[in-house]
Amino acid sequence: MYRYETHLHTVEGSACGFTPGAEYPAIYKERGYDGIFITDHFFHGNTRPSRELPWREYVDAYMKGYEEAKKAGDKIGFKVFFGIEENFEGDEYLIYGVDREFLLAHPTIPHWTREEMIKWVHEAGGAVMQAHPFRDRDYIKKIHLYPEDIEGIEGINTANTANDNLAALCYALHYGLMIQAGSDTHHTHMINDMNGGILYDTPIESETDYAQRLLKRERPKIFFNEDFFKDMKGINIKLPVEIRRGGRWEDMDVAEIMEWVREAGAAGNDKDSQPAGIVREIVEKLKA
Ligand SMILES: [Zn+2]
Ligand SMILES: [Zn+2]
Repeated sequence: MYRYETHLHTVEGSACGFTPGAEYPAIYKERGYDGIFITDHFFHGNTRPSRELPWREYVDAYMKGYEEAKKAGDKIGFKVFFGIEENFEGDEYLIYGVDREFLLAHPTIPHWTREEMIKWVHEAGGAVMQAHPFRDRDYIKKIHLYPEDIEGIEGINTANTANDNLAALCYALHYGLMIQAGSDTHHTHMINDMNGGILYDTPIESETDYAQRLLKRERPKIFFNEDFFKDMKGINIKLPVEIRRGGRWEDMDVAEIMEWVREAGAAGNDKDSQPAGIVREIVEKLKA
């Protein structure tokens, strides 16, 4: 089995990143990974370079963390792949399988919509996975769900709460969505035994290779630490939710989400405790 990190930030590309890209490959190699994807916050997210820069200069500055990680990885024979994390209204998307040429060929990206992002990435042979769909933070005013048109979601993101992850897994199960796992690491101290990631029987050769697997629905296997999910409560969605179905956004009644939670066999009350084993059960069901 080959083991990969799918979600990682550098100090060069992300304003909230602390670790230089060059530091990651040796640490991940030591921990038994076969590769990492650098997914810095892009233009509409918490990006590091100034948005005032001319597009080409912005792209060069944005890709610096990846470039530095790639150089360090090449020196020790460790795979480093390029990815992007883009943000709209707090909902974030991980993009795989596009490159510098794609970014330079789309200078109107600073104005793109979610729908244009998906269309352009697909036209370029890339794939889109929604990151941590049920994240609840004060800067997020609404949850946006995208069960159609994209390849899948991040079912496990260990920089978010166990409960936010469980809600994402119940959502994935209801729609049969493909899931991936990642750590969303911003600092080396976030790299630990609690992190999740993906596994494949054959090595991922490039970012395009991973995108192609997702587009062909070759589901990654997921690894995670069940201890991350201990002391979990039932699910309690506090933010309003909007969902895009049949090409249109509609407001959702949280009761519908609680129905997915019950379908998945999870507890829907935030006073009830929730056995960690439920996560393993849902991940098993999602393999089918
Ligand atoms: Zn961040
Ligand atoms: Zn992230």
